[in-house]
Amino acid sequence: MRNHDAAQALSPGESFSRLLNHDPLRRGEGEEFPPAGPARSLRSILIVDDKAELLNSLHQLVNLHGYQADKALGGADALEALGNKHYDVVLLDLIMPGVSGHDILDYASQKSLDTKIIVVSGDSSFSGVKHALRCGAFDFVKKPYEAGELIATMETALRQCKLENENQHMEEKLKESEELHRFIVNNSPDLVYMLDRNGCFIFLNERVESLLGYRKDELVGRHYSELVDDEHLEQARNIFNERRMGNRAATNVEVRLRSRLNRRGPRLFHAQSVWMELTAEGIYSDSNERTREKFVGTYGTARDISERKEAQEVINFQAYHDLLTHLPNRALLKDRLSLAIAHARRNKRKLAVMFLDLDRFKLVNDTLGHTMGDRLLKAVANRLQSCLRRGDTLARFGGDEFTLLLPEVRTKDDVVVIASKILDRLNAPFVIDGHELFVGASIGISIYPEAGDTEESLIQNADIAMYQVKGRGKNGYQFFSEEMNHSFSTRLTLERELRNGLAQGELRVFYQPQVSLSTGTITGVEALVRWQHPVRGLLEPAHFLPVAEETGLISQIDDFVQQQAFSDVAYWRGKGLGSVQVSVNLSAVQLEQEGFVDRFVSSMQNSNLEAGAVKLEITENTLMQDMEVIVPKLKELRRLGVHIAIDDFGTGYSSLSYLQQFPIQTLKIDRSFVGDIRADETDVSIINAIVAMARGLKLDLIAEGVENRTQLRYLNAQGCSEGQGFFFSKPVPAGEVARMIRNQPFEALVREELLLDTV
Ligand code: C2E
Ligand code: MG
Ligand code: MG
Repeated sequence: MRNHDAAQALSPGESFSRLLNHDPLRRGEGEEFPPAGPARSLRSILIVDDKAELLNSLHQLVNLHGYQADKALGGADALEALGNKHYDVVLLDLIMPGVSGHDILDYASQKSLDTKIIVVSGDSSFSGVKHALRCGAFDFVKKPYEAGELIATMETALRQCKLENENQHMEEKLKESEELHRFIVNNSPDLVYMLDRNGCFIFLNERVESLLGYRKDELVGRHYSELVDDEHLEQARNIFNERRMGNRAATNVEVRLRSRLNRRGPRLFHAQSVWMELTAEGIYSDSNERTREKFVGTYGTARDISERKEAQEVINFQAYHDLLTHLPNRALLKDRLSLAIAHARRNKRKLAVMFLDLDRFKLVNDTLGHTMGDRLLKAVANRLQSCLRRGDTLARFGGDEFTLLLPEVRTKDDVVVIASKILDRLNAPFVIDGHELFVGASIGISIYPEAGDTEESLIQNADIAMYQVKGRGKNGYQFFSEEMNHSFSTRLTLERELRNGLAQGELRVFYQPQVSLSTGTITGVEALVRWQHPVRGLLEPAHFLPVAEETGLISQIDDFVQQQAFSDVAYWRGKGLGSVQVSVNLSAVQLEQEGFVDRFVSSMQNSNLEAGAVKLEITENTLMQDMEVIVPKLKELRRLGVHIAIDDFGTGYSSLSYLQQFPIQTLKIDRSFVGDIRADETDVSIINAIVAMARGLKLDLIAEGVENRTQLRYLNAQGCSEGQGFFFSKPVPAGEVARMIRNQPFEALVREELLLDTV
């Protein structure tokens, strides 16, 4: 300690330290100073005097009081000693020849020695003392000294030295510990913060930079709300104003904080804010007195939980969405529908549910594979979405079924507009991987409240209406009406009735003649199933085959139709009605069944019908389903002499290379292409292509759906040898077709038409 002003009050013989109000620690008998620091001995005392006897007597005095000391005779000696060793205290004579006491003081201050120098000098002039103190002397003892005073002063210096050493040691310790804490705080995985009582940041650890992209100093002094995502201000207010402490304080509050970092990740998640889990507790200047006045601010931590949140969001998303198209799934649709119903009920409004089933999706999936099917579904989902308005929900129900919720409709016409738009958009071909794919849709619509007032009834009734569209020949829409429910309500009822009908013999086989287009002679008949329904009358296949296919009943139906057709044809042949061939349709289910070939053959044999009289009609789609199973069976039948034709040719996706693997003789041109032949229209390129292809592959051709003379003439001119269609006859019961075979009414008709043509 250096106190210059105090020197002014110094009177001779007085110890300077006493003036400084020091409480010198006096050593009792046998007491010693504890060591002050690790590297130093407290006994490092140096006595400097140029007079040997004075030097020795001082040394003795010091020794007498139990202290070791070194001696330096004169200033030069002293400099050397100070250069070699650290001394805590130096007793220094001022006036010495050569190197004086002042020089020693200068040296000590130059070298910043922390040695306490007590000047012991006969020069007690004010200026001498002042100068000595200014130069850094610790105290001044006037010669001739009083032993007690000198020792007391020396001990004061030693005591001070010890205190300073301890202080320094403590400071070092503190510094270390502070560094340690700073390290711990800054390397914490969590953000650590402190707010003042107004909610402004007074401290943030360095994590804030890597977590949120802000520098600490940017945020210090700013209000916490600037860091909180708008949607979370309410929760944030509660946590950042926390005044409670300990267990009662807030923990695990989840809020989103603004971030400057651009995080990668799915778009579903907010890129510019981060989910954090916060804790907070109040800080008080006096922890025993948690009053408003003593409240200082809030301390807390924030942990980045974005990964967990994202995982949760993914899980939630998966629970409520279809993963392929990312559309809402059945569960989410039902949820939204129930809200929409409640809303509509309250506001006396209408809403509509559309059930949409793709018409030719299965075909794509079966022929081109699931990957293509998936891509098509995604493309369809996109197109559908482009038809929607805000607030509408499009959901995928699985497979190729979509459901659409229109929560705001005023009239049926609103819905008609959307349904037509959807059909329109879906009718345009999808081009995927170079394939041009055509899918239509069958849409059933139910309107709240007429068609139901619960989620289940609305969805189910839209489904029923959709089946009506499918039954009518697909690609269209239909509103649900009560009669549908009453007469032919659900597929379940239909299935039950069909089973029953099969057992009760309600199925019939009708025949449609197949006619040579050049002579008009009936060359064959196609067997087509009908259902004589006890209530609904005669039903065409479209009304019940979809359900039969779904339930597998189709193979029983096929068995029945084949047996009936074989026995009818055998009967006609037996009656001398010529050698017409009979065509029967095969379903995929039947074809894939084990033992199919044997059953088919024995069915022919039971009727005594030769294989050459039978033609199989198989659609392209059926052929493509399970080629490994189907091809050997067809080859076996072909070997036996059965004819094989591809039905509805041109609507599937079969390629030439596939066709060549099948043992087929006939292509049956789909009636949609025949329908394109009109008097005014010349674009019949598909027909021409099929004709050319058949010729190339040496296959017979038969056109289905021939409805007028234009078509007859055109097809004949192209070289299509046979035709079938309403122009000749609708499918009719066995008796009627037998009459036609006997009378051959189309020979004259065709002759006439072709003659007219050549005229
Ligand atoms: P398909 O095998 O292509 O049969 C021809 C369909 O075209 C028949 O419909 C027939 O009535 C209709 N048709 C014939 N000429 C014309 C025409 O000039 N204009 C129009 N617009 N249509 C014409 P149908 O009898 O309703 O049969 C529909 C489909 O049901 C059949 O198409 C066939 O795929 C399937 N089917 C019919 N009977 C059976 C069967 O016993 N077993 C199997 N597996 N499928 C059958
Ligand atoms: Mg057919
Ligand atoms: Mg056909």
